[in-house]
Amino acid sequence: MPTIEVMPETLASQVAAGEVIERPASVVKELVENAIDAGARKIEVEIQRGGIAMLRVRDDGCGMSQQDTAKSLERHATSKLRTSDDLNGISTLGFRGEALPSIASVSRFTMRSREVDSAEGTEIRVDGGKIGEIRASGCSVGTSIEVRDLFYNVPARKKFLKAESTEAAHIEHQIRLHALCTPGIGWLLRKDGRVVLDLPATSDRRVRIEAMSGGESGKALIEVPRHEHRGMVIEGAILPVAFARRGRKHQYVFLNGRPVEDYTISRAIREAFKGGLQEGFQPAAWMWILMDPALVDVNVHPAKREVRFAEPAQVRIGILDAIEEALRPKEVATPEILVEQFSPLQLGGDEVSKEVVREDEVAPVSAALSVNTIAWHHEEQKELEVTPEEISKAPGFRIVGTLSKRYALLEGEEGLVLLEPQAARERVFYERLINDQGEVESQGLLVPVLLELDVRDVDFLMRFREHFNRAGFTLESFGGQTVTISAAPSFLNEKDIKRSLIDLVDLVIEREGSSRVKRLAYEGFASKVSYILARQDGWSESSLSGLLDDLFKCDLPYCDPAGRPTLVQISFQELDRKFGKS
Ligand code: ADP
Ligand code: MG
Repeated sequence: MPTIEVMPETLASQVAAGEVIERPASVVKELVENAIDAGARKIEVEIQRGGIAMLRVRDDGCGMSQQDTAKSLERHATSKLRTSDDLNGISTLGFRGEALPSIASVSRFTMRSREVDSAEGTEIRVDGGKIGEIRASGCSVGTSIEVRDLFYNVPARKKFLKAESTEAAHIEHQIRLHALCTPGIGWLLRKDGRVVLDLPATSDRRVRIEAMSGGESGKALIEVPRHEHRGMVIEGAILPVAFARRGRKHQYVFLNGRPVEDYTISRAIREAFKGGLQEGFQPAAWMWILMDPALVDVNVHPAKREVRFAEPAQVRIGILDAIEEALRPKEVATPEILVEQFSPLQLGGDEVSKEVVREDEVAPVSAALSVNTIAWHHEEQKELEVTPEEISKAPGFRIVGTLSKRYALLEGEEGLVLLEPQAARERVFYERLINDQGEVESQGLLVPVLLELDVRDVDFLMRFREHFNRAGFTLESFGGQTVTISAAPSFLNEKDIKRSLIDLVDLVIEREGSSRVKRLAYEGFASKVSYILARQDGWSESSLSGLLDDLFKCDLPYCDPAGRPTLVQISFQELDRKFGKS
């Protein structure tokens, strides 16, 4: 029988580190949380080579005495939790007392700290968990922790680290998350010697959100005013549906000052938009929730990302009410609002009557608008039916007409053929993409389009720039969160360029999972691009003949890249049988 032995401290810390410290960004998270807990007003983070070679977090918080600097490196040493009762009312970000020893056990670690009223500070070095010399240091007030060669002694973990640029993007995301949460703290991030984030302290949360969400969306922010529900206080900001994205990375939720990911909350945020969102899309939102710490358990997850509510139903109601209130049309001074009404009786006419409508009449008005939209489509169709007899070069098909804008009807030699134009376009785009000579026709833009993205998305775009290039997008990093698009596929409308690119990024990331993206075959990429491109514009009957020509130039004209049919035939034989003729 193997004998049982208690693990040596360093080994135990390394095991604990496995749970908490996954990557450089998790080190940054822990150090930054400690700095916030220490009451810092300014936090500076510096990283080199994705934080793997070096990362340093410096704060001007309360600092530690010489005795405490040494003690902070012991496992389960914390100044934030004294009794198990305290666990019911956690108001600090940390409380487990595991971060510092864990980090120090998997890196070359140096900590310098000085309290306000001490003449000098303390410096401690730890190498792979072995505490080295402790000496006096002439450092400034506060704490500075430097972590070098992360995971140098845990090669298995080091192997799982991603490209340096990816690790750096995760760190930046982590800092943005905390910076959103703490407008009163000034933040500075230096990456390989360059300042990439410089956020001065502000007393206004909205200023911080605007500073971080980029010009265009900053202007569109809708404030969620302070809302109280059963002792909970909810406030924040949201963006209109047009800014919705796939996935939840544009949702920032802070619960008692801690960034959290919680299904109850994100579902309530989505629900508040009342089905105004396309399937799979999530609204952009920044929500701050304060509640009695006794009603929420934050000790569910080692990295404290997930929480558990005592009364999830109440949390849902509070959030729903708060956002619905923000989305409700604002009361105007007079009870009448001016709406441009297209009367169904004037279809086809150019006249648009301006009528004064009361607020409760807005619903019938929007119904009228949709009637009008349908009629407009109908008109367009009539116009296009001028040349229905056009002969296509495709195998003996004659275009007969369209079926409810969804299918095209073709007469074939053996019967009626239905074409699904979107599937057909998908096939055409796909084969053009994977066929080297047939790159997507790209058009240079007179004025490059600027796109502000999540830093992780920027990293993704830049690493797969060649793929996007072949899909017709010419992309350049503009520094930080901005990417410039200087050319785009020529069949895209200028106003759709941004949206298509964002969709593409979201879809590829969502389907592949960012970790598997490296193995992304170009075929997979192309099929997604073609899926999006095919749905970008509607098709018109006049384009059918060209589409059929293109389709029959393809290697596999009868199915789209996902294997669904592009053409379905109903033979004369089948028709005759249905009509009882045979
Ligand atoms: P926890 O944050 O869960 O208490 P840590 O291992 O992260 O555990 O930190 C241990 C202790 O070290 C903290 O409780 C705190 O007293 C002290 N400490 C850590 N970082 C700082 C800092 N930047 N400023 C002041 N004190 C700190
Ligand atoms: Mg901590």
